[in-house]
Amino acid sequence: MKRYFLLATGITLGTFASAQPALKLIEQKEVARIEKTLSADDMEGRAIFSRGIDKAADFIAAEFKKADLQTVAGADNYLQVFYQLKPEFRSGSATVNGQALDEKKWMLITSEPQVSINERSGYEIAKIPAGAEFFREAYKFVGSGKNMLVLVDPGFAANFPRLGNFKRSMMESKSNTLFLLLGEAPETFSVEATHDIKKERLQNVVGMIPGKSKKDEFVIFSGHYDHLGIGKPVNGDSIYNGANDDAAGTTAVIMLSKYFSRLKNNERTIIFAAFTGEESGGFGARYFSQQFDPAKVVAMFNIEMIGTDSKWGKNSAYITGYEKTDMGKILEKNLKGSVFTFYPDPYPEQQLFYRSDNATLARLGVPAHTISTSKMDSEKYYHTVDDEFETLDMKNMTEIIKAIAISSASIVAGKDTPSRVDASDLRR
Ligand SMILES: [Zn+2]
Repeated sequence: MKRYFLLATGITLGTFASAQPALKLIEQKEVARIEKTLSADDMEGRAIFSRGIDKAADFIAAEFKKADLQTVAGADNYLQVFYQLKPEFRSGSATVNGQALDEKKWMLITSEPQVSINERSGYEIAKIPAGAEFFREAYKFVGSGKNMLVLVDPGFAANFPRLGNFKRSMMESKSNTLFLLLGEAPETFSVEATHDIKKERLQNVVGMIPGKSKKDEFVIFSGHYDHLGIGKPVNGDSIYNGANDDAAGTTAVIMLSKYFSRLKNNERTIIFAAFTGEESGGFGARYFSQQFDPAKVVAMFNIEMIGTDSKWGKNSAYITGYEKTDMGKILEKNLKGSVFTFYPDPYPEQQLFYRSDNATLARLGVPAHTISTSKMDSEKYYHTVDDEFETLDMKNMTEIIKAIAISSASIVAGKDTPSRVDASDLRR
């Protein structure tokens, strides 16, 4: 009986056997040390723009160094720094066909303090016609990376001032978007504007192990290391430690980096990313996704909240957006013969696929899923000050990290390539 079983699952066990010594590296004691450090009170709940989150970033970078990861192309360390900007309008004027244009009829989205534009500036012209989905279209133009002049149908006059919301928090960008509330393209126009640009620093932590043969094909393991920070005290505790959300996923990313670094047999390049700004709009993942061609990413394992037992009990987790690619089936296949089971997300009504950093890459077509154990209908400490180290099951979490490692084996080895997400099918 046993012999037959071995033959039937020979391939899986073969992968297993060669990975076995390195799997030991995913050790509960080490998992607990990292998890405890990231969720300690002195990390202050890792809110963006805090001292605590910078401390967490330095800790993750130090662990990446211990794992002997390389930095990504062109970077001299693991910190991927970028800026969130808050441009505040100071003064400006506009003319159209030689006539002054009312202040309520133009809006410039820019990250430059001084801008001067006219019809000879080479701006690409686009329209938001009557009946269009106004904000969705506007968002597309602002994010296009091109200098654009967008003519907005005068029927949108009431919504027009709300375009200013784009300035509340934006990423550094070399392109400008000028919206004019005009039905027709002007023959001549000019706009001068001055903004105060407030700059705030953010950083992802990113490292990699180059692939042996398929260097240009990337497999990403990610988790977000930011959390909610310090809030109003509840029973004397004001720190949102985010031990499960998502120090747990970050811990997994670090442990996986150590594991794959020891194996050093990955044919594809593996990228390890700890994202910032997930809890405040996914800025970290967005910046990260703009640093390379998404077509080169063959799979993304985003890891969120794996510190508690899933609804099926130990040694099991779920995959969000399961039906959107065949990646889940590949992971299941790789787990055959092990004690682990991955299931499709049992909380589809919660739209979890769209609620974490995987969505940023999925929208670009990347097979990007989140793996989690969190009981989203009853997770007691979710987004409370009690999401602390003591509430997590370190043994099970260690096993789940092993399961993720095993499940990814054939993808990392370049043998399986998940189907792509049909991005046209996704909401913005
Ligand atoms: Zn989270």
